[in-house]
Amino acid sequence: MTDDSIDPLYAAAHPAPLTDVTLYSAPMIIPVTGPVILDGAVAVSGARVVHVGTRRWVLDALRQDMAPHARLEERHWHGVITPGLINAHTHLQYTDMADVGQGSYSSFHDWELGFDRVYETLGDGSWKASAERGARMMVEAGTTAAADIVTDAEAAGALAAEGMHGVAYWEVMNWRNDDWRTVGLGRLVEHLDRMRRIDLPSVGISPHAPYTLETGPFVDLPDIARQLDMRLHIHLAETPMEAGEREATLSTYSTASWRDDDWASYQQLKDAGKGASAIQFLDQLGSLGPDVHIAHGVWADAEDRRILRQRGVGVALCPRSNRITVTGKDAPIREYLEEGNLLAVGTDSLSSSPSLDVLDDAAMLYDLAREQGYTRDDLTHRIIRMLTLGGAQELGMHVGAGRIGQINAGATADLAFFDIPVYVATPRGIEDTLDVLVRHGAGTNRATVISGRVVYNDRAW
Ligand SMILES: [Zn+2]
Repeated sequence: MTDDSIDPLYAAAHPAPLTDVTLYSAPMIIPVTGPVILDGAVAVSGARVVHVGTRRWVLDALRQDMAPHARLEERHWHGVITPGLINAHTHLQYTDMADVGQGSYSSFHDWELGFDRVYETLGDGSWKASAERGARMMVEAGTTAAADIVTDAEAAGALAAEGMHGVAYWEVMNWRNDDWRTVGLGRLVEHLDRMRRIDLPSVGISPHAPYTLETGPFVDLPDIARQLDMRLHIHLAETPMEAGEREATLSTYSTASWRDDDWASYQQLKDAGKGASAIQFLDQLGSLGPDVHIAHGVWADAEDRRILRQRGVGVALCPRSNRITVTGKDAPIREYLEEGNLLAVGTDSLSSSPSLDVLDDAAMLYDLAREQGYTRDDLTHRIIRMLTLGGAQELGMHVGAGRIGQINAGATADLAFFDIPVYVATPRGIEDTLDVLVRHGAGTNRATVISGRVVYNDRAW
């Protein structure tokens, strides 16, 4: 009987003996899909997790699973092991634009002008290396997957260059209704075809924002993405001009103003005094859905947040970027948490953020949530979920083959190793350890494993 003839169902219940296993053990493991494990271990074979549990239990289970002369190598880590972190919003190609991110600006438009000045001086030929430097920074910070927006095609391979997971979203911006149909659509097809031919692991589409695209592209792009089974990622509710101007009640109102009018753009809708938010505008166009996640979501009122939940749209919060680009306020983090919106964390790019370490944003989210009056004791747990499973969900990668953002049998073996003090003597000590990870974990990653391969190791073992 050859391997091909084995029934997959039988094989799942009676796996072939393992011949080569790496055991990552640590005083604390955070699987995310299960409770924190003390004196834990993760057994990895090939690109996948085989077992996770207490070290004692995993070794016991392996004794049953392993072939007689199989190789078992243990790598013990003295800190915390988590799933590889997920950066839910970035533009890796702008890594070399850190000067822009270090400037100070009087308004969002002022930041845009600063951005454009430097973008033009860099130009063609510089984006590939810049994007790859960014991907390397992420790997060193324990990030193993990202939602990466690609504006210039040469930057598209950055995630793949480091073996990272996630989606490279082709950005579409600056099209009016007339030139979109005559020129824009053709350009899009050209670029997507090129990205497909260089064999990127996953490609998506990013319609930029309601202030750089008129209605036509915002109707067509989601349709095209959905026909191709691609995901969508949009900058939305980032700037003050995207805020609604109505009492935040159910938007049946805005449905009525669409019966007799096809609005050419969000601007036109605003000029007509309709007062709909940018989220309500895109919702009316059918652009939102569970295959979409948005970046920022700063100007989202109660009705906007309800629409996002109703459509299954997640938000990538980028609190540091919002301050640098002067979005005018912080995201309503307390409300998002209390109401139960799907959330993840993004750094945005170095052109609007001091680092590509999502734990820097996690620390700021913690403080902002408390300042905004979020008092529940689950805050660190919620933020850990945002950094892992939440990000995976926003990328459509939280279930099924190749799932990420979690440590469990069969999941992709993406791991990060944080060098923080671990207290396990009491439940309070365990909570304190999680607290330290979320609030002071930035810069403490010492090793990164992607698909079972060690891609970064700063003398961790
Ligand atoms: Zn962005």
